[in-house]
Amino acid sequence: MSFSQAVFANNRLLAALPHKDREQLLTHCEAVKLDSAQMLYRSGELIRHVYFPTGCLISLMRPVNDSAGLEVKLIGNEGVLGFTLMLGVDVTPFHALVHGSGPALRMTAPAFLDELEHSPALQQELKRYLYVTMTQLAQNAACTRYHVVEARLARWLLMTQDRAHSDHFHVTHELMAHMLGVRRVGITKAANSLLKQKFISYRRGDITILDRAGLETAACECYRADKDIYERILGEEHTFLPHYRDEPIAPHSYSSGMDGV
Ligand SMILES: [Zn+2]
Repeated sequence: MSFSQAVFANNRLLAALPHKDREQLLTHCEAVKLDSAQMLYRSGELIRHVYFPTGCLISLMRPVNDSAGLEVKLIGNEGVLGFTLMLGVDVTPFHALVHGSGPALRMTAPAFLDELEHSPALQQELKRYLYVTMTQLAQNAACTRYHVVEARLARWLLMTQDRAHSDHFHVTHELMAHMLGVRRVGITKAANSLLKQKFISYRRGDITILDRAGLETAACECYRADKDIYERILGEEHTFLPHYRDEPIAPHSYSSGMDGV
């Protein structure tokens, strides 16, 4: 595997592109390290860069009144930040806050738009990602309304583990409460329940996932729904790359298989 292939392999969207498109994109990317608590965008600001995370976690926060707002999406190496540019909108509706430090590939908005214009494969991949994102935002809205804090916290911990690619990460009760839009006492109660069941350990902000299967049973159905929609539309067994070069993709050309996460 070449250096560029190794870099792209760390972001699933980029790894799915044809070789030629990947190599071309890399010429416009710079590797950056993002730090925890770094604010990449503020809602309403111009999008100057697009980020493809390769080892960091980025929270999209929707501000309400003057508050920082609620986390509406978590982006790791399965996604991209700034994709609304492909809709012809160059301002962001969300704050984008780094909550897990690590590397990413970054390109300027003009370079991204130029690549997008010349790469049908990139267009198709990002359209599919947009569909997945819309579905996940809707799922998140329902989750916030209907599911209890403990189940939502279990879901959030699993999502973080998936994107951190580690059983161990640092996050305080205060940050978890902030992300889920609940009072800190609610997070403490939910976390204590997960501790008692030995699904996690927690010490001064250091969380370790001890029993992933158990945590999955504690999580609401939204965790599985999020993963299923991603794998069904963007997963490896449903890549559409051979079609990019020859013909448009039929709307229902993908399998309806849901397993493969
Ligand atoms: Zn839920």
